[in-house]
Amino acid sequence: MGLEHKLPSGVLLTNVEKMVNFSRSASLWPATFGLACCAIEMMGTGGPRHDMARFGMEVFRASPRQADLMIVAGRVSQKMAPVLRRIYDQMSDPKWVLSMGVCATSGGMFNNYAIVQGVDHVVPVDMYVPGCPPRPEMLMDGILKLHEKIKQESFADQGARA
Ligand code: SF4
Repeated sequence: MGLEHKLPSGVLLTNVEKMVNFSRSASLWPATFGLACCAIEMMGTGGPRHDMARFGMEVFRASPRQADLMIVAGRVSQKMAPVLRRIYDQMSDPKWVLSMGVCATSGGMFNNYAIVQGVDHVVPVDMYVPGCPPRPEMLMDGILKLHEKIKQESFADQGARA
């Protein structure tokens, strides 16, 4: 007789990796960090109409040491890039980055020497959200897709990224 026949019903079997990843995905804490107009939509996403709190992430942390999600909301100037990298380095591991809007992802319409042509030149990006600006619904869709990605990751993946 197999083990499953000896266990009482209602017992949930999983492994530590899946359980920890589920907990991580359900309690992402974003760093308080806005760069340009996209940040207004990001703030709207945290408000009562869209209510990010439903997904365990209403707490935008003022300290990067208490955050594990960086939402890059807006264009990244060359001057800001080292600051962004420093905040990323100070965030606790494992951590994830979401690039919000075309400016953060590729420089957008700012094809010039002052703007970084994609934040992935500065930090590793886990999820891209298109748009100018993306609506809160789009940001939340990107966040939910990031939750699914985190659930599929192995600890080795998370360590390699950090
Ligand atoms: S994508 Fe559009 S809304 Fe977002 S920072 Fe660039 S110009 Fe502003």
